[in-house]
Amino acid sequence: MHELSLAQGILNLVENHVPPRQMSAVQIVHVDLGRLSGVVADSLEFCFEALVAGTTLQNARLCLNKIPLCLSCDDCRQSFESDGDIFQCPRCKGNATKVVSGMELQVKEIELQEEIQEAT
Ligand SMILES: [Zn+2]
Repeated sequence: MHELSLAQGILNLVENHVPPRQMSAVQIVHVDLGRLSGVVADSLEFCFEALVAGTTLQNARLCLNKIPLCLSCDDCRQSFESDGDIFQCPRCKGNATKVVSGMELQVKEIELQEEIQEAT
């Protein structure tokens, strides 16, 4: 299952970025998810929750920031949003379009619960 390996990848990234003693303080992992990334958001969230269950990261949840698919036309420089089916330029009807955004699958931010001040 595609989403399971992606969820594992996100988990590995969190583990690499957060010191072990702060692992249980991880609350929300913000992820940019492009429309064209091919990832099913619900499935990714489900897999992530299944992976963290019973671990020190069990409080962590994904927050998926869905990025629309945006294209730009090489011929007339028109920028437009697409629902993922149409790649033709709406202005000049050309096909020389390229994806500007919508392919993302990227961890943007890891939110930790506010740290309890340690007595020194
Ligand atoms: Zn065009």
